[in-house]
Amino acid sequence: MAETVHPPFVTYASMLSLLALCPHFVILLWYTMVHEDGSVAQSWDLLKKNGLHGLINIWPRPTAIAWKILFCYGAFEAALQLLLPGQTVQGPVSPTGNRPVYKANGVAAYVVTIATYIGLWWFGIFNPAIVYDHLGDIFSALIYGSFIFCVLLYIKGHVAPSSSDSGSCGNLIIDFYWGMELYPRIGKNFDIKVFTNCRFGMMSWAVLAVTYCIKQYELNGRVSDSMLVNTTLMLVYVTKFFWWEAGYWNTMDIAHDRAGFYICWGCLVWVPSVYTSPGMYLVNHPVELGTQLAIYILVAGVICIYINYDCDRQRQEFRRTNGKCSVWGKAPSKIVASYTTSSGETKTSLLLTSGWWGLARHFHYVPEILSSFFWTVPALFHNFLPYFYVIFLTILLFDRAKRDDDRCRSKYGKYWKLYCERVRYRVIPGFY
Ligand code: NDP
Repeated sequence: MAETVHPPFVTYASMLSLLALCPHFVILLWYTMVHEDGSVAQSWDLLKKNGLHGLINIWPRPTAIAWKILFCYGAFEAALQLLLPGQTVQGPVSPTGNRPVYKANGVAAYVVTIATYIGLWWFGIFNPAIVYDHLGDIFSALIYGSFIFCVLLYIKGHVAPSSSDSGSCGNLIIDFYWGMELYPRIGKNFDIKVFTNCRFGMMSWAVLAVTYCIKQYELNGRVSDSMLVNTTLMLVYVTKFFWWEAGYWNTMDIAHDRAGFYICWGCLVWVPSVYTSPGMYLVNHPVELGTQLAIYILVAGVICIYINYDCDRQRQEFRRTNGKCSVWGKAPSKIVASYTTSSGETKTSLLLTSGWWGLARHFHYVPEILSSFFWTVPALFHNFLPYFYVIFLTILLFDRAKRDDDRCRSKYGKYWKLYCERVRYRVIPGFY
C-alpha cells in the first residue's frame, strides 16, 4: 500500500471525488457567472428542474475556435519559454541529489505576452472579447485536453522519465493523481512544469484579467472602478509572480509535488477558470465603488501582495546567502538542521526563525489569502460565488500547511521540533 499523508480512505475519497467533480465544477462556475448572473440559487434551480440532463445540456462542446485559441496561446508561450534569453539559474537539490537548471526568462515572457495581447486588440487584429464569448468552449477544450496531457505525462513517467527523480508508488490512481516525475522535460531544455504552472497557468491569469476588462469596456464603453481595482490587483499579483519566478522554482509546487493531475491539471484548467473568476463575475456586474473606497481597497491589496512577496523573498535570500544576510535590519536567527537524502547522504539546511518566518509557521499564507479577498471585494456582497476562490484558497493553504509540516517533520526530525518550539504560533491554530 502506498504511503499517504492523510488516512488512506480520506486520500482515495478526496482524489477520486476531485477527479470526478472538478471538471463539472469548472463548467458550472463559468455557466453561473456568465449566464445565471452569478447566482448559485438560479443554477441550483436549473439543476433541480432538469437533473443530470441540465448539467449535460449546459456543457459547451470544445469548438474549433476554442482549440485554435488554445493552440496559438500554448504554442506562443512554449516558443517564448524556449527562445527568449534569460539567466541560467539552479533549482534546489532534489531528494535524489539532482539539481535542475532553468532559464529565467519569465519577466520577458510576461511583458511580451501582455504587450502582444493588448497590441492585437489595439491594432484591430484580434479582439480579446472573442475569448470571453467562447470561454465555455475554451474551458471545455481545456478540461479534455489537459486530461489527455496528464495521461501522456503518466505514460512518459513510466517509459521515458527525464531524471532519477521519478518512479511509481505502485498504485495507478496515486501515480496519475500525484504524478510520476518531479522534473519532466522534453529534450534537455523544455521543462514541462515551468510550462504548465508558470507560462500557461499563471500567464493565463493575467491574460484573462485583461480579457475581462476589455470585454466590459466593449459592452459598456467604459470600465467600472471595481473592475479596474480587480484587474490591477490581479496584474500586480501576477507581475510579482513572474518577478519572483526563479524563487517559485524552489517552492513545494516545483521542488516537492510531482507532475500529475493535481498540479498540472490544476494549473492548466483550475487557474484560468477558478482563479480568474472574480473578474469573470465583474464583466456583467459593473459595481461603482467611488474613488475613495476603490483606492482604499487597492492600497490594502497591494500591501498584502507586497508582504507575501517579502516573506518569500526573505526565505529565499536567507537560503541563497547561507544565512549571511540581514533580516529586518539584523543578522537572522536560525536553526542548522541536518537531514538524510533518499540516497543516504547527510546534508544540512537552514531554517529561519526571525523576520516574517519568526512570527508564525506559514505566516506567508495570511497575506496571500487577504490579497485574494481584496481583489474580490470590489464585487461587494450581492452574490456569494465571486468569493469561491477566497474560500478555496483558504482550504488549499490549510491542507498545504499540514502537508508541508508533515513533510518537514519527517525530513528534519528533532530540528523541526526545535523549530516548532522557537516559532510557537501557527496560522491555523490546532489544525496541525
Ligand atoms: P514555501 O515556499 O513557503 O515552501 C515551504 C518550504 O520552505 C518547506 O517545505 C521547507 O522546504 C522550507 N521551509 C519551511 N520553513 C522554513 C524556514 N523557517 N526557513 C527556511 N525554509 C523553510 O511554500 P509554498 O510553496 O506553499 O508557498 C510559496 C508561495 O506560493 C507563497 O507565497 C504562497 O502563498 C504561494 N502559494 C499560492 C498558491 C495559490 O494557489 N495562490 C498555492 C500555494 C502557494 P525545505 O525542504 O527546503 O526545507
